[in-house]
Order: sequence, then structure tokens, then C-alpha cells
Amino acid sequence: MDATTAPSPSAPATTGSERFFAGPFEGSERAAQVAAQVTAFLEGELAQLARQHGIDHEHGADRALLQQVWKRSRELGFYGMTLPEKMGGLGLSVLDHVLVKEAIYATGSPFAPHVFGELSGPPRVGALARFATPLQMQRFILPVAQADKAICFALTEAEAGSDAGNVQTHAAQDGEDYVINGRKRFISGSPFADFAVLVASTATDPAQREVSAFFVDLHAPGVRVESGYKTMAGQSSTGDIVFENHRVPATQRIGEPGRGLALALGRITVNRLLHCPAMIGLATVALRDAREHALRRKQFGRAIGQFQAIQHMLADMATELAAARALMLHTARQLDAGIDGRAESAMAKLCCSETAFRVADRAVQIHGGEGIVQGRRVEFLFRMLRMYRVLTGTSEIQKNTIAKELLGDTR
Ligand SMILES: Cc1cc2nc3c(=O)[nH]c(=O)nc-3n(C[C@H](O)[C@H](O)[C@H](O)COP(=O)(O)OP(=O)(O)OC[C@H]3O[C@@H](n4cnc5c(N)ncnc54)[C@H](O)[C@@H]3O)c2cc1C
Repeated sequence: MDATTAPSPSAPATTGSERFFAGPFEGSERAAQVAAQVTAFLEGELAQLARQHGIDHEHGADRALLQQVWKRSRELGFYGMTLPEKMGGLGLSVLDHVLVKEAIYATGSPFAPHVFGELSGPPRVGALARFATPLQMQRFILPVAQADKAICFALTEAEAGSDAGNVQTHAAQDGEDYVINGRKRFISGSPFADFAVLVASTATDPAQREVSAFFVDLHAPGVRVESGYKTMAGQSSTGDIVFENHRVPATQRIGEPGRGLALALGRITVNRLLHCPAMIGLATVALRDAREHALRRKQFGRAIGQFQAIQHMLADMATELAAARALMLHTARQLDAGIDGRAESAMAKLCCSETAFRVADRAVQIHGGEGIVQGRRVEFLFRMLRMYRVLTGTSEIQKNTIAKELLGDTR
């Protein structure tokens, strides 16, 4: 089956255990088709490519192979699906977007983050298109949209993590240019990116906060990427970016000075929600693997799935996962209906990340010793899902947001 002949997932799978993994599709017909086609692409052509090149979650593809995936995905119409419609995007609702992304991650494919360039492609620039000058559009945004170039998003620093406004990387104006010095930390996609959206301080008075955003070329003089560390999920797609007297023309500043944080965090509500389908998709893989293991593995003369202790773990996993998924979909519908959604998407991110990790933990437990052997899928999922409780705003920061919306500012 190829990506263009896949059946629509809108046909409900409501019988047997399969309904725990693929219920009736709840989005538009268009999104159902995209989800089916992109799933077939990942499970067919890209699975073969991964086998050929020995790619798995911990042995990532090099830049050339990634570019091949981006280009092919673009040919099939998936790569730019999150872009504004006038740039070739599909105009999906938030709900559709969530459902397509969930389907992508539920394949368990190591190429899941790359089919629409989540780390370094169109989602990084789509929202900036309306602030970009024609020159920025030509030089930075279009090459990324066309899968010729890759871009990362550089906000975090050693002293600016949860406190994102405390950036110390400094862009000092010098005539028509800015001269940039500083170091960014934990930047996804930077080891294979060509450009970055950089968030830097342009304050002239150190006592004040003025944060601006710039497009920067990572191959230009005075910039280097250091990527000598791996995350606990074994991936090395994260790096630091070091700026030493890196000079950029003021024409590379995005929007007005001082608007950097607003530009960077402008879509934080929807972006927080859009991380949830990855967690739910991966946790669904963990549940499926745990179910299969419980049916297959025999101890004391019978399948461990016959022991009530194992049955209850599986029942808890399925129940909690269904509840977290329902909150994710409900929040997507609320955002589509136009509510502000700041607290709601923080609630969804908090609930999905904490639930997905508990599901993965129990999946490891059900696998027993096999579950803690490095290289087993369930062991990888456990480590990967642990990370989401920190990434894109820790659980504590989500709670702060929810409480602030609930109580108002208590200071
Ligand atoms: C794999 C990976 C990829 C990443 N990708 C990117 C990227 O592409 N671009 C980017 O800019 N950043 C990226 N980050 C950075 C990420 O967003 C931050 O790690 C995250 O926001 C947490 O910041 P921190 O690590 O500095 O933790 P800290 O802010 O130091 O937090 C440490 C602990 O203190 C708690 N804490 C902090 N402040 C409060 C508070 N006010 N109330 C209660 N508790 C608090 C936190 O919840 C946490 O438990 C990435 C990180 C990782 C690990």
C-alpha cells in the first residue's frame, strides 16, 4: 500500500480491542485522509528507509537522509501542512492537526517528528510569516517551507529556562547591524539546522528587559553549534548555539525591538496543546506493546494477562489514557471555537505528559526484565515520555499557569 491508496481511518474500528487504539476518527474527512496517507507513508516507504539505513529512535538519520525525507514528504503534500493556506498549508483546524499528529506518533516511527518538520521545518516559521519582511520571507522562510533549509528555535539559556524572559544573550546595535554574543542551551534540531530564530536581549540598560527576535544563519562567521550531549532518550538532535561577535544586519530582526518574547511565545497556547498528540500517540504504542506482552508471556503455566494484577494495570493505563486523550480533544475543540485557552492547554499538557509517563512506567512493569533492557521499544518509550514532563514548560510551570488563570494575579 502506498501513501496515496491508503484507506481512510474514518471507518470506525469499534469492535474488539482494536477500538482502544483506533476509534472512529473525530476530525474532518480531509484530516482523516491525510492521517491515513501519512500513516501509510511512515509504515511503508519510511519504515523501509529506516531499515535500510539502520535508523531507530536512538540512531538518528544524518542531515542528507533527513533532507530526503523532508523532500519526499513535501512531494506527497505533508511537509507544509501546518503552514498558512496561502503558503500551501492545508488549513487544518486545531482538532484536525491534533488528530493527524496523534496518528503520526502512534506509528512509533523514528521519522515521526520529521514528516512535517516538527523540529526544524514549517511549524517553526509558519506563524512568523505575517511579521516577516519580503527579504526575510525570501531568504529564510520560503527555503524552510520548501525543505531546502532547516531552522531551529533558540530561546533557552543556562539562566533562562522556565524564566524565559531572563535571556542574557545580547544583541548590541552597531550602526546598521547587531553584534550578538551569548550561548543558547538545549536547542532542538540545531545540530542539523541552517538557520535559527534567535531570541536575544536588545536592552541597553542591563536593569531592563527588552527581548527581540532575529533570523540568524548558523553557517555564518561567529556562530557555532556544540552538540556533544545526548538526552536521556538517547537522541542527539539537541545542541547549544554559541555566538561570538556574530554580526547580523538589522534587516534580520523580526518585528519591532522588544517584541521578541511576544513573537516567540505568541502561539504558546496552541503549541502546548500540539505537543499532546505526540505523548498520547507514544503512550498508545506503550499500551499496545504491554497488551501484546501480557497475552504472549507465560508464567506459572499461563499468560500473565490472566493475573488480576496485570489486568488492573492494563485497565488503569487504558482508562487514564482515554481520559487524557479526551481532555486533549476537548481543548482542541475549545481553541477552534475561539476561547483564549491559556489554562486549558496548560491543563492538557500537564495531564497528557503525566499520564503518558505513568502509562509507559506500567508498560515497563508488565514487560518485567525485558522491559528494562536497553533497546526494547517500551524501555525507549519510558525514557522518551519522561522527557515530556520537562519539555516545553515543566509540569510545575503548567500548574502555575493554571493557578494564575484560576486565582488571578495574587502578587
Ligand atoms: C530535549 C530538549 C529539547 C529542548 N528544545 C528546546 C528548543 O528547541 N528551544 C528552546 O528554546 N528550548 C528548548 N528546550 C528547553 C526547555 O524548554 C527547558 O528545558 C524547559 O523549559 C525547562 O527549563 P530548564 O531546563 O531551565 O529548567 P528550570 O527552569 O531550571 O527548572 C528546574 C525545576 O524548577 C522548577 N521551577 C522553575 N521555576 C519554577 C516556578 N516559578 N515555580 C515552580 N517550579 C519552578 C521547574 O518546574 C523544574 O522542576 C529543550 C530542552 C530539552 C531537554
